[in-house]
Amino acid sequence: MTSLLESLSSKVGTIVEIAKTLGNAELMLEIGELQMRLADLKIEHAALKDENRELKAEAENEKNNPLVYDGEVYRCNDGHAFCPGCHDGNRKRVHLKKGWYTLGISSSPIWNCPICKNTFSRQDN
Ligand SMILES: [Zn+2]
Repeated sequence: MTSLLESLSSKVGTIVEIAKTLGNAELMLEIGELQMRLADLKIEHAALKDENRELKAEAENEKNNPLVYDGEVYRCNDGHAFCPGCHDGNRKRVHLKKGWYTLGISSSPIWNCPICKNTFSRQDN
């Protein structure tokens, strides 16, 4: 796709040079719009490539180190805790942070998600 975009850019450049020699203002305006749309296409293409790279990395990660739901949160092989809301909703691995829920004089251990802000009860202290 990148070489196709480069080829298109090169072709548009050639057309611009031809249009300049013709001196047709309306044609130059149309070509200018074509160049802008081509630039937008390049930006969109780069964003899709980035997204594709991230999705491939996530799929690889899921294959090599799958998460297991322990009834409250997801755990990976080394025991780290991940947010079930973020994982189930967006397929994102978000590390949970240890925290405490305090009500009056009693506190209970919880997991906090830094992204979706949900909390989950924590068994370990
Ligand atoms: Zn979350």
